[in-house]
Amino acid sequence: MPEPMRIIDEPAAMQQWALDQRRAGKSIGLVPTMGALHDGHLSLVKRCRAENDLCVVSIFVNPLQFGPSEDLDRYPRDLDRDEELLRLVETDVLFVPTPETMYPAGFSTRVDEKVLSKSLCGASRPGHFSGVATVVLKLFNLVQPTRAYFGQKDAQQARIILQMVRDLAVPVEIVILPIVREPDGLAMSSRNAYLDPDQRREAGMLYRALVWAQDAIDNGERSGDTIVQGIRDRIGAATTARIDYVSAVDFETLQEQPVLHGKVLIAVAVFFGTTRLIDNVIVRIPPTED
Ligand code: AMP
Repeated sequence: MPEPMRIIDEPAAMQQWALDQRRAGKSIGLVPTMGALHDGHLSLVKRCRAENDLCVVSIFVNPLQFGPSEDLDRYPRDLDRDEELLRLVETDVLFVPTPETMYPAGFSTRVDEKVLSKSLCGASRPGHFSGVATVVLKLFNLVQPTRAYFGQKDAQQARIILQMVRDLAVPVEIVILPIVREPDGLAMSSRNAYLDPDQRREAGMLYRALVWAQDAIDNGERSGDTIVQGIRDRIGAATTARIDYVSAVDFETLQEQPVLHGKVLIAVAVFFGTTRLIDNVIVRIPPTED
């Protein structure tokens, strides 16, 4: 029988537990989340469970990463259900700090990645990735993970965390896992709950447009503009969504690629009303091409 799941809300208690476990030679996996858990989150937890002696899941709706006009207050929260789901997948520790304990009066430090944070979501959400990097580094210090698990769903976030870990020599292995989707292809997201039935139906088009792009590249298309325009046209024709961006970038630099090559991230962000959804695919173009 596994131990019952432990719930820790004090950062100091979390760090003490983690240091004790690491000193005892145990590996720790961490899955940082904002809760309202779905199968996408649980895929990360299952992998974390399988690869480490101990699995910690954090639930923290991080105020630092929300802009003033964003959905911090109405972000979906359902801690009872989340706890139940995490028990079912045999999580060892659920860490649920409060904003007051994570950011006590006088907190004044930020982690600010300066290059990769500027494009894509960073352009429309200034300060967002600094909020993410700051909380993730703090979570790493509190949970002392051997490995930390992130979804490709938030590809730019994952890329920035990889950069932070490399730049600041943080001793943690970053694992990035594939996007888990609904039957119609819509990427699972806590924010899908905001969609009304019409928007929910239309939202399936995001993935269909990305699959079109993937197929076009597989069939030899190499123009970034053609791919971006094709996605825009498909979303425009079939949905009421307002496009924030559609972009084809190099996954390493997150810079646009006029001629597609290497590891290409094709990313979209749209608004259905006030609900902002993101999705992406990563396409690998063989290096043998000239
Ligand atoms: P969030 O709670 O939205 O901050 O997400 C927590 C983690 O789960 C992040 O690393 C996300 O990239 C990941 N995640 C969210 N949705 C999915 C999904 N549909 N498939 C895989 N991972 C996901």
